[in-house]
Amino acid sequence: MSEEIVIIGSSFSGLGTAIACAKHGYKVKIIAPKGHSNFIGGLQIAPNGFAALSSIGVEKEILNSAVRLLAVNIKSLDTAVTLTNIPLSSSKAPYVSIGRQALYEILLNKCLANSLIKFIDATVLAISSKNNNTRLALSSGEVITAPIIIGADGLNGKTSQFVSPSGTQKRAGYSIYRGIFPASIVPTGFSYPNVQLWLGNSCHLVSYPIQNGEAVNFVFAFSENAFSSHSIDSIFCDHPVLSMLGEYIDNWHLTSIKRIVSLSNWRRGGITLIGDAAHPMPPHLAQGAGQSFMDIACIENGLGKGLSLSDAIYNMITIRMPEAHSVAKKSQLSGNIFRIGRPIAGLRNQLISMAGQKVISDFLQDLWLTA
Ligand SMILES: Cc1cc2nc3c(=O)[nH]c(=O)nc-3n(C[C@H](O)[C@H](O)[C@H](O)COP(=O)(O)OP(=O)(O)OC[C@H]3O[C@@H](n4cnc5c(N)ncnc54)[C@H](O)[C@@H]3O)c2cc1C
Repeated sequence: MSEEIVIIGSSFSGLGTAIACAKHGYKVKIIAPKGHSNFIGGLQIAPNGFAALSSIGVEKEILNSAVRLLAVNIKSLDTAVTLTNIPLSSSKAPYVSIGRQALYEILLNKCLANSLIKFIDATVLAISSKNNNTRLALSSGEVITAPIIIGADGLNGKTSQFVSPSGTQKRAGYSIYRGIFPASIVPTGFSYPNVQLWLGNSCHLVSYPIQNGEAVNFVFAFSENAFSSHSIDSIFCDHPVLSMLGEYIDNWHLTSIKRIVSLSNWRRGGITLIGDAAHPMPPHLAQGAGQSFMDIACIENGLGKGLSLSDAIYNMITIRMPEAHSVAKKSQLSGNIFRIGRPIAGLRNQLISMAGQKVISDFLQDLWLTA
């Protein structure tokens, strides 16, 4: 098979799609500027995303670099008291955490080792369509076209704007601090192979170990209008356990989150969206990259059944669009509950300590593969 497919973007969706297509003999060109990878922090890969990774054969490499997470501990941010523990041991696939850079390198090395995959050192500056021909103008001055183009350029990329020009982005009203700390400087409990979810008033903190437990990844989300100062040191300064985290201001990176309406169309002309370009995910259930792996697995599965690439992509859109929209809604709802303000936050914590283990396990059984 020699049909050429062009992929825009060389993060998790782009590299994963390249591996899946090359596995079935397709020649792939990935458009990505060299040396522009900026992978801050870690990722959780929930069992659904991990199971999907088997389609591109990288589970072993990932397990070698990942921490296998055993439970989700939910705590009160105000009192540090545990509200509930949810074991992850009954999942049908591992639940892991991994540094973003480590995951990127695993996928990149697999692409570099495959002679069917080539890289074009450029960014896409503009996309146009004429007579059913989709053309990409590159920063190198080249203009290229291909029968099949995959937009894996993320939620702010050019391809989602091209496919859905009326798509809107608004401020979501909350921001996120991300930080990585050496395990040696944070309280020991944060290095346990667990996800910790600390629920506060209008804010929440998630932590999990990465780099074989040598570092801990923190994500702190807060409603912007509930905090007079948005500086991390003033947010944490009086906290009995977390105040030390606020002292390391340089470790934290602040991102204001945008709310993006789910796209009802993932294809225009020769371009099909995948990953965040197709279905931006609120980050609260740690599903964004995992959902991208599920898109890729769906294409690979179609190719494995003998579909043409074009049909496998069409099949992916049909199957994955409703699934991804449903997970995005669950993530949004979870974030709203995690960030709820006083006085309901106290009631939320009481309910979680009484019935959280069952309710949350049931709510997430399709993502954690515990059904
Ligand atoms: C705070 C936070 C925590 C998260 N935690 C998790 C988690 O624990 N687990 C999880 O599964 N997901 C998580 N996510 C989501 C996850 O990061 C994304 O879903 C994932 O990165 C999407 O991958 P992607 O390849 O689709 O897009 P991206 O990672 O956004 O990559 C897009 C790529 O396209 C390139 N690009 C853009 N424009 C162009 C252009 N014009 N030309 C060429 N290249 C271009 C970019 O440089 C980039 O390399 C989190 C997200 C946030 C914000």
